[in-house]
Amino acid sequence: MKKTKFSSYSLNGISEGCKLCVRGEKSVLFIGGRCSRNCWYCSLSDFRKKTNKIFINERPVKKIKEIIEEIKESNSNGVGVTGGDPLINLNKTLKILRELRKNFGKKFHIHIYLPLNLVREKKLRKLSFYVDEVRFHPSIFLKKDEKVINDEIEKIKKASMIFNKKIGIELPCLPNKEKAIISFIQKIEDFISFVNINEFEISETNQKKIENKFKLNKDTYTIKNSLETGKKILKYLEKKKTKLRVHLCSAETKDLYQLRNRFLRRKILPFGKRLKNGNVVYFVVFENPKENIKKIRGITKNIFFDKERKRILIKMEDVSEVYEKTDLKIARVEEQPVFGNEIIEIQWIEK
Ligand code: SF4
Repeated sequence: MKKTKFSSYSLNGISEGCKLCVRGEKSVLFIGGRCSRNCWYCSLSDFRKKTNKIFINERPVKKIKEIIEEIKESNSNGVGVTGGDPLINLNKTLKILRELRKNFGKKFHIHIYLPLNLVREKKLRKLSFYVDEVRFHPSIFLKKDEKVINDEIEKIKKASMIFNKKIGIELPCLPNKEKAIISFIQKIEDFISFVNINEFEISETNQKKIENKFKLNKDTYTIKNSLETGKKILKYLEKKKTKLRVHLCSAETKDLYQLRNRFLRRKILPFGKRLKNGNVVYFVVFENPKENIKKIRGITKNIFFDKERKRILIKMEDVSEVYEKTDLKIARVEEQPVFGNEIIEIQWIEK
């Protein structure tokens, strides 16, 4: 087992989808919040749950054209398709994936998360035209009888043939559940090529249930002993000389690497300065942009009119000159480079 440079832990390397993901090269396609399951630990927000809303990264979309636009703006080399259950409206899922293949070609990497309830051979075959990697979510943490679990194992075996073993499982790492997780892995080990285990985190929706059952770490959003349980699983599998690629993805991996690296690749507006944390700083004049743009143009040509937000962006090196020669209020604005630019902080430059 080794610690990766992305603050995660791995055994025998990580899956192709994970490699792109930690480098920020994947966009996240949320294909609707309706699900065939109702996991007690589900972290989906109420806003997304039980709806047909589609998001690509942070952007809500109605048309496939918008999905393609966002992938281009994010400079992504692939997508991770998630939900809800993407099989609930398989035709919609297939329609979108077909367009992505058509637009981005064979090398564009598509992985998909699937709960197993609705998995059938015919559906998997249809998906296999477009999908490179499947991550199944077994129901081992739900109170299911053995028959259900055995059924899921059979479905995974079938999928193994259809996807040429480019399949795996992905699970939240519930503390002290190493026995259940290892036992399931061992039953399917010969039919999958990877296992992804995620450090367990609290969300707005699962908070109450989780706080009743588990203790939190000092950061107040990760669950005590989750990471340790994951490490125990990796160590055990290492001892057993597994050939599986096993990835224990920490909360830090998601926040500090996956998200930040995605931000660092995203297209930004002219005269923005990227910060190490992935955010972008602009120097902005908000008031009367249409009139003031002429005033500023007399001082510098290094300005940009941001039509969407109705504001003027000034090149950092020219800010002091504009500041001295006009009475305009200029702000230093730090934003996340996501669709619609999420403002983190506005600091007014004092006169
Ligand atoms: S399968 Fe996934 S999306 Fe569906 S309820 Fe469970 S955790 Fe939530």
